[in-house]
Amino acid sequence: MFAEVIVDVAAYPIDRPFDYKIPELFEGFVEPGMRVKVPFGPRKVVGYVVDVKGESELAENKIKPLEELIDFDAILSPELLELSKWLAEDTLAYRIEALQVMLPAAMRAKYEKFIQVEQLDAITEPDFLTMLKGRDRVPLKYADSPILLKQLKAYVKSGAVQVDTLVKQQTAMKKVRMIHIVKAPILEELLNSLSKQAVKQRELVTWMIGHAGESIEAGKLLKDAGVSATVLKTLIDKGAAHEKKVEVYREPEVVQLRETAVPTRLTSYQQYAVDEVLHAFHKKQDTTFLLHGITGSGKTEVYLRTIEEVLSKGQEAIVLVPEISLTPQMTSRFKERFGDQVAVMHSALSAGEKYDEWRRIHRKEVKVVVGARSAIFAPFEKLGIIILDEEHESTYKQEDLPRYHARDVAIWRANYNGCPVVLGSATPALESYARASKGVYQLLELPKRAKEQALPTVNIVDMRAELQEGNRSMFSVSLAEAIRERLDRHEQTVLFLNKRGFSSFVLCRDCGTTIQCPNCDISLTYHRATENLKCHYCGHEERVPTICPECESEHIRFFGTGTQKAEEEIAKLFPEARVLRMDVDTTRQKGSHARLLQKFSEGQADILLGTQMIAKGLDFPNITLVGVLAADTTLHLADFRAAEKTFQLLTQVSGRAGRHDLAGEVFVQTYTPEHYAIELAKAQVYEPFYHMEMSSRKQFGYPPFFYIVNIQFSHEELMKVVDYAEKAARFLAEGLSPESVIIGPTASAISRVNNRYRYQCLIKYKKEPKLTETLQALIRFYRTDWIKDGLQLSVDKSPVVIY
Ligand code: ADP
Ligand code: ZN
Ligand code: ZN
Repeated sequence: MFAEVIVDVAAYPIDRPFDYKIPELFEGFVEPGMRVKVPFGPRKVVGYVVDVKGESELAENKIKPLEELIDFDAILSPELLELSKWLAEDTLAYRIEALQVMLPAAMRAKYEKFIQVEQLDAITEPDFLTMLKGRDRVPLKYADSPILLKQLKAYVKSGAVQVDTLVKQQTAMKKVRMIHIVKAPILEELLNSLSKQAVKQRELVTWMIGHAGESIEAGKLLKDAGVSATVLKTLIDKGAAHEKKVEVYREPEVVQLRETAVPTRLTSYQQYAVDEVLHAFHKKQDTTFLLHGITGSGKTEVYLRTIEEVLSKGQEAIVLVPEISLTPQMTSRFKERFGDQVAVMHSALSAGEKYDEWRRIHRKEVKVVVGARSAIFAPFEKLGIIILDEEHESTYKQEDLPRYHARDVAIWRANYNGCPVVLGSATPALESYARASKGVYQLLELPKRAKEQALPTVNIVDMRAELQEGNRSMFSVSLAEAIRERLDRHEQTVLFLNKRGFSSFVLCRDCGTTIQCPNCDISLTYHRATENLKCHYCGHEERVPTICPECESEHIRFFGTGTQKAEEEIAKLFPEARVLRMDVDTTRQKGSHARLLQKFSEGQADILLGTQMIAKGLDFPNITLVGVLAADTTLHLADFRAAEKTFQLLTQVSGRAGRHDLAGEVFVQTYTPEHYAIELAKAQVYEPFYHMEMSSRKQFGYPPFFYIVNIQFSHEELMKVVDYAEKAARFLAEGLSPESVIIGPTASAISRVNNRYRYQCLIKYKKEPKLTETLQALIRFYRTDWIKDGLQLSVDKSPVVIY
């Protein structure tokens, strides 16, 4: 038998399966989706078996045998193997990259495999017992005959033994030492045989008699019995107890937020949406639904109800949420409803925790995963529904290879499994809404809030007028008044500050110099905690200067993060207010995000002040006021999606207010009140914005009317990067049809990162049958030739941000 193996070497000529012979020893054990070790040139590398076959086209003597099994059963299902093929093609990545992105990072670390005996009495095969020689843990490689492997497989199945991985890294499985105390008669016999001088030993045995037959964690036992580890060790040697390492899962921290009541009746809109989605589920149709529901309309309830039905039919569900900010409240709602059947996978988990959650899914111990982008690869095999909440979020796009969009992967998996996808948002991506308008997606609308509450009133405050009247504060008079009222009424306020425009930097007040990164074309960011300046692109760090490097003035000022500044101002204006600040600085520590939210939900603060991370998901009954301190900061980005992002953000934050019994009010402070994204966010209606924005996109030739491909070049030498970019542009122009437009090459918005000059080419097209072929040919040039000259080239077929 032969195995087709994709080896872990990302290089152009190697991007295909290689044939290996399956040695007799492993025959019958190797299956697609397992990892193996194979010789590759002079090295031994990890490979993924993608197929097993009876014949190979290569001559017998040319085929090397594979050397080792890494997994004992397939870690990638046939579906995921198939998906990796499509993913590699679609994103122009190596197949090996597509395979690796589906697995938790901990699985790529160095490891060793062991056989761990779980039930010694269940092992009866003489060969197997001989191999164990009384040990309860031996390296997997000891099972070195077909008979042993066969027995091993049977024991794994029955649970008598486990094959586990010792990852040579901190992310190994977490284990505790359990001490199993033998039965009382044996202990009593032992006690009699101990000499009178062995006081401590006698003491422990006596204690053990009181706990005969129990399994106790080693640390607890030592503490309870009041003896040292040496005494315990001696008694274990004398047969008073067995010790065993037991695997425990690291439970990711889930803070229990205030319980959300389970609504007894769905609204008619919710009911219709649930019915439509379940109809597709029962009919095994891979319909993509766009659930367009205003904030507070009960989208989450629709997800919960449909999943309930999917689970009752024995099937599984993936729920994607854009980022950690959403997770605490979202996960606690899912855990409330589905209990232990839920696995959580988000970016704040450690590699080890992610690995644990992944294994819970792989072992079919859970049926629902709630997670960020990569949870779309959850190894479920009976998928019944996939949900993307806040589907417009840019975090669903991976910026590294393979540059996939979770929405596309979701639709692929739904198609494979014959199940529906639900894309939910109050402010759908323009692309999605356009597809729904054309009938590619099925549109479901929730136009009313679930409890019939009115949407909050939105007031636009013109900050230019404030300035003219001499108000230099970050707070307009009307917003300050509104906050005061809330403090008096003991209601809660959320203040939102868009971080970008306010990110902290160092500015000389005499000459206007900002401190730049020496390696990149970007200002350094001030970090108060370390008193350092840091570059977010290359990681360069330096001390804060005391004098301006340009003019030697001492009037150099650090602008702390906008939130810090706002916090100081709130303290001055409202000294009695209890404020919680939520930004990158206060949430760096693990779990701190959830803890802050919990405090706020318990009413331990009056004002929650924060960045993007508080824009979404918050659902607390006592919030009646939302203030947006500066709405313009996203508006002026050099990004064709700037207006869309601003509208989305304002709608999202406004939606935090008045979601329950108390009415809500919103103040949006801006320097450009006449911009349509701001005007229309006041009305909080999506369609008029959609039409305005579509006509502007049409006029300027942007998505969804045109597709865009971004090709990025970088090189240490400016001349070379220009040269290659021009070569590539010519090549594209020759290969593509004349209707496609090639813009550039031009210097990128950030023209130098990490001492590498950056150029880019954009391709705009409507229909381009030769696109994939031409891009692949370009990549081939790059991978075989240009790369050797130090060029880096990346192709992004649907860029979300271009910097
Ligand atoms: P969305 O996800 O659309 O913003 P949520 O699902 O969070 O909305 O619902 C908003 C609030 O309304 C939540 O507190 C939720 O418990 C409540 N809710 C949802 N559906 C109903 C319903 N049918 N009846 C009463 N309350 C509901
Ligand atoms: Zn200066
Ligand atoms: Zn830098």
